[in-house]
Amino acid sequence: MPEPLLPSQILKQFFGYDRFRPLQEEAIGAVIAGQDTLLLMPTGGGKSVCYQVPALALPGMAVVVSPLIALMKDQVDGLRSNGIRAAYLNSSLLPLEKDAIDHQCREGAIRLLYVSPEKIMSPVFLQWLYRMKISLFAIDEAHCISSWGHDFRPEYTQLKILKEYFPSVPVIALTATADKLIRRDILDQLGLRSPKVFVSSFDRPNLSLTVRPGRSRLGHILDFLELHPEEPGIIYCLSRNATEEVADKLYRSGYKASAYHAGLPAADRMVTQDAFLRDDIQIICATIAFGMGIDKSNVRWVMHYNLPKNLESFYQEIGRAGRDGLPAETILFYSFRDVMNWREMLMQGTPERQELQIARLERMQQYAEAQLCRRRILLNYFSEEAGTDCGNCDVCREPRTRFDGTLLAQKALSAAIRLGEGVNMGTLIDVLRGSRSREILEKGYDKIKTYGAGADVKPDDWREYLTQMVNTGVLDVAYHQKYAIHKGVLAQKILNGAQQVWLVKPENQPRPEKGAESRKPKREMLKETLPDRLRVVRKQLADRHNVPPYIVFNDNTLHEIAKTKPGNRSALLAIEGVTAHKFEQFGEAILTEVRRFVKEQTGKGVQVKGGSYLLTLQLYEQGCSPEEIAQQRDLGITTVQSHLAWLLENGYSIQWQAFLHPADLQIILAVIPGIQPLSARAIFDYFEGKFSYLQIKLAQALYNRSGVVTRK
Ligand code: ADP
Ligand code: ZN
Repeated sequence: MPEPLLPSQILKQFFGYDRFRPLQEEAIGAVIAGQDTLLLMPTGGGKSVCYQVPALALPGMAVVVSPLIALMKDQVDGLRSNGIRAAYLNSSLLPLEKDAIDHQCREGAIRLLYVSPEKIMSPVFLQWLYRMKISLFAIDEAHCISSWGHDFRPEYTQLKILKEYFPSVPVIALTATADKLIRRDILDQLGLRSPKVFVSSFDRPNLSLTVRPGRSRLGHILDFLELHPEEPGIIYCLSRNATEEVADKLYRSGYKASAYHAGLPAADRMVTQDAFLRDDIQIICATIAFGMGIDKSNVRWVMHYNLPKNLESFYQEIGRAGRDGLPAETILFYSFRDVMNWREMLMQGTPERQELQIARLERMQQYAEAQLCRRRILLNYFSEEAGTDCGNCDVCREPRTRFDGTLLAQKALSAAIRLGEGVNMGTLIDVLRGSRSREILEKGYDKIKTYGAGADVKPDDWREYLTQMVNTGVLDVAYHQKYAIHKGVLAQKILNGAQQVWLVKPENQPRPEKGAESRKPKREMLKETLPDRLRVVRKQLADRHNVPPYIVFNDNTLHEIAKTKPGNRSALLAIEGVTAHKFEQFGEAILTEVRRFVKEQTGKGVQVKGGSYLLTLQLYEQGCSPEEIAQQRDLGITTVQSHLAWLLENGYSIQWQAFLHPADLQIILAVIPGIQPLSARAIFDYFEGKFSYLQIKLAQALYNRSGVVTRK
């Protein structure tokens, strides 16, 4: 029997990764040791390998409970692309397909079987499982078990039965939700036995965090898109209507955008999701119905058109960006109106839930209005210390200007009081700015003393300032009185001049000029870069193999390929994410494109003295053999050998030991001084073909370089 592979070997061989990320190895070790395990890791943290590696290390079949059909298919596609025998069983399969999988499982040919929670709870299926050798159970998206969570699935609450039926099979529960309440629920409800709990850092430093005021959102989105051509992203909206509206507008501006929400027919949703996975659609405008099943690793940005209802959901949603670890952007559009809408919605829940939910909404609001590093706030919410400011959020990047806003606060307070604390923010702004609207005039608001006292401040700026005042206790909002603005706890002191009020200037980020021509050529140029060309090849391969592009290679791997420009098999295999199995399927196509690109570039290269040698060097450094260099450069092999010798002689780093054993070098060096006239041919003949021309030329080069190689 072959030695069982170590987890690190499995990681390399089947997933192409060189090292574990934090906590992966620990969690894998626990499962292999037969322990029940709970793993909390942010989206994109790398949870899947924590049950996939044990599944390959342990004998038997691993059973993975996964809540969404799309997610299962995606995972199975990914595993298969790495040569791992995986399958799923759910309602989407035809009876014949089910029979085939049943058969394979009984033969022991399947290492990972994905099933839906309904499926696993069916008595017939449990009986069936009972006859199998099960290595482990993995409960993915385990927060679905908790009614406190955002994706509660009643079927999940029955999973306790697994531990009852299979007491000795380890169960690993995985989730990206850090909430303590939910965590406890998972442990209790699954009946895990002295579980090991691993909580990884929730920090996702590759996600930039930005909050923008919720006005001219569409303009901002269009500007953003223009600077991020072809980059896939998600825009989360609160209402179904909004998803359709935004998608429609983007579509009409020339972007491949589609709406996604629970009100659309399932088949349409499936098509949209699939097209997004395959990079056929760039932008999805979605309600939160979209996302849990999205494993797409190359989502480059996530926007929130509306405020999410709590930081938990927010973090989960932005977490769908940048799962490959590459930089990704997130933008939240914040308006007070969204807060009001949420409050109205949350007020309809049961009283005990209301309180909790509103407290959560308030934390979300604080985040959006924060004037400190936003990542610190987030990590703090997830009970993590963030030692320093992150440098990758808008507050860190664009330091705020503060000014003494006492006078503005006094004007606002005085107006609010004179209006009997009975008007909402919009009307208050109208009064402060001296609007001559019908409502104002009819109600006689133009007669109050502070009417028009703030005409010099723009309405949008007023909205910002008033919001800040609400947050700092200058003003208050009476939610139960149609959001009337009241005076806040500090009102008296401020009106007496006993307290100063500091306000933060709204960032007036200039919108880039519309349709700026200067940006157009940039896009053209981008097309010529190797990553773009590789992306095209990747897409073709993906379509041919009927999988999403990121399953072929993720963005990280793609960038690494573009950076190192591998010239041959071993160089490509050395890149993270390229397994032998993937090489077989996609390797040649990728290598061909890289070679074509390098050739074009070098063809365009300036002819300098030694230029030809340097081109050979470039290919050599990419890992090409002399034969491959000759082939790619359309040169004779002897020319390439001479190039390598010249490079070696001239101090370039050529690993001659790969071609010539040091002992053989000594043999050749010993005869060189005695051969007259000296030529490679003469040496070749002297040894009667025992050494190749390449070996001889390298030895000569070292001889000429003498001093480097001594003849001891
Ligand atoms: P999660 O399920 O936690 O959201 P995934 O398991 O989908 O995250 O992993 C996110 C991405 O990270 C995937 O592209 C995965 O292949 C990659 N990944 C996981 N583990 C490693 C590792 N040790 N080294 C490099 N990439 C990894
Ligand atoms: Zn920051």
